Amino acid sequence: MARVKQAGVRKQHRSLPSNKPIIISPMPSKSDREKPPRELLEILACPVCKGSLEYDEEENKLICHKCRLKFPIREGIPIMLEEEAEKF
Ligand SMILES: [Zn+2]
Repeated sequence: MARVKQAGVRKQHRSLPSNKPIIISPMPSKSDREKPPRELLEILACPVCKGSLEYDEEENKLICHKCRLKFPIREGIPIMLEEEAEKF
């Protein structure tokens, strides 16, 4: 298969208006140990007792000491579901 070389001057690419939609990925990082933003941690409450939660940096979990539950954080998003929580 021979490649056909284009003759002539190459057209310069001008800043064409892109017709591609700009996809903004909500979480560009693939890390599942993404720390949730502090503001988010402050407003989060335990779905069971509505108490405040403690963030465990080592385990990357939100802990409710009253309910003895650990809520997982996936890709920076806390999973505030009782059924997803881990008892300790
Ligand atoms: Zn609780």
